[in-house]
Amino acid sequence: MKAEIFSVGTEILLGEILDTNAKYIATELANIGIDVFYKTSVGDNEKRLLDAIDIAYKRADIIISTGGLGPTDDDLTKETFAKYFNKNLVTDKESLENLKSYYKNDYMPKSNLKQVDMPEGSIALVNENGTASGCIIQENNKIAVILPGPPKECIPMFEKQVKPILQQYTSKVLVSKNLKLCGIGESNACEIIKDLMLSSQNPTIAPYAGNNEVRFRVTASGKTKEEAKELLKPTVEKLYNIFNEYIYGEDEQTLQGAVVDKLIKNNMTISTAESCTGGLLASNIIDVPSASKVFLNGVISYSNESKVYELNVWKEDLEKYGAVSEQVAIQMAEGIREKSNTTIGISTTGIAGPTGETEDKPVGLVYIAISIKGKETVCKKLMLQGDRLKIREKTVNICFSNLLKLI
Ligand code: ATP
Ligand code: MG
Repeated sequence: MKAEIFSVGTEILLGEILDTNAKYIATELANIGIDVFYKTSVGDNEKRLLDAIDIAYKRADIIISTGGLGPTDDDLTKETFAKYFNKNLVTDKESLENLKSYYKNDYMPKSNLKQVDMPEGSIALVNENGTASGCIIQENNKIAVILPGPPKECIPMFEKQVKPILQQYTSKVLVSKNLKLCGIGESNACEIIKDLMLSSQNPTIAPYAGNNEVRFRVTASGKTKEEAKELLKPTVEKLYNIFNEYIYGEDEQTLQGAVVDKLIKNNMTISTAESCTGGLLASNIIDVPSASKVFLNGVISYSNESKVYELNVWKEDLEKYGAVSEQVAIQMAEGIREKSNTTIGISTTGIAGPTGETEDKPVGLVYIAISIKGKETVCKKLMLQGDRLKIREKTVNICFSNLLKLI
């Protein structure tokens, strides 16, 4: 069973909105074992939509489309699919009731009525979050799933009503687990498990690299979810044995989430003193809902004066070694920890570029320091590649992976 995803709408073609529906549907189809070989974006135009449908059915069994189910004349997806399949449009009773109850005592524009018209013989998908019903047309071994554009309408409709139907067409259930690693590079990690990756067919192991982190997605297919889950286990266990010291979490866990969890577990608090990351480190910590239990204070200390006044960095050392130096990074981390009375103080200072480099201090040179109460302060010198944002993001991730090791 092969599927093609259609994103209908001129807004998509013009780049005015991001096609998040296609991303969502592609992920969901992969999870239930339906192959997607093509994605099509097409404007609100009957002729071009008809052409696109024709092309798609030469290479796929099923089209899943989103968008163009609104009440206006330029919303023509359902009408065009009906035309392609040579079907009349008829009012779906349940959808009409849903539409009426949506407007309750308000005036309902007549134009909305077309949103509950369905191609004859199709399965209507009643919209719990809007007025446009979707539908599923099945004809001559071809299937069309037609969904509304707004994600808050399209996603629940797909999840609740479409997925159970599609599942009938596939004998496969796919289950994945993501193992998330930090402190090891992608090529290094892949080299270690090269043979295992090559020999693994069910489950498969796929590597993904981010900013200083690596994710291995292990995917098994089985006849049932339970069978697939069982198949995953031995490979996941092997990966845990090999990468134990680098794995910080699974699936939805984030690096900063793992740090906050560990700080809470160890009853520790943290404060940040940031120069080159400009608040990104603090912001990433605060992204974690339980951060208030551990994060007490953060200072963005960009000028030399602020480093002296806010963090007690020695003026003489700033002059002697410069703001981007081991000495200053250490004093920033210790200064913020003492001023904030936290267990940990962490600092960043560096040259994120594209300007500001000197002969001995190139763009990408960053120092991070971590001061933990009762322990010697640790400082790392980093040489990072990338543009200004990448250098700042990598710095933050390296802060987190070092924190995980030290706390
Ligand atoms: P409406 O009743 O709002 O007209 P519709 O089903 O006709 O809904 P569109 O007009 O194509 O859908 O899109 C409406 C809105 O839905 C867009 O402005 C956009 O915010 C969102 N949307 C549409 N398609 C997508 C998509 N592929 N990915 C993400 N959002 C989308
Ligand atoms: Mg519309």
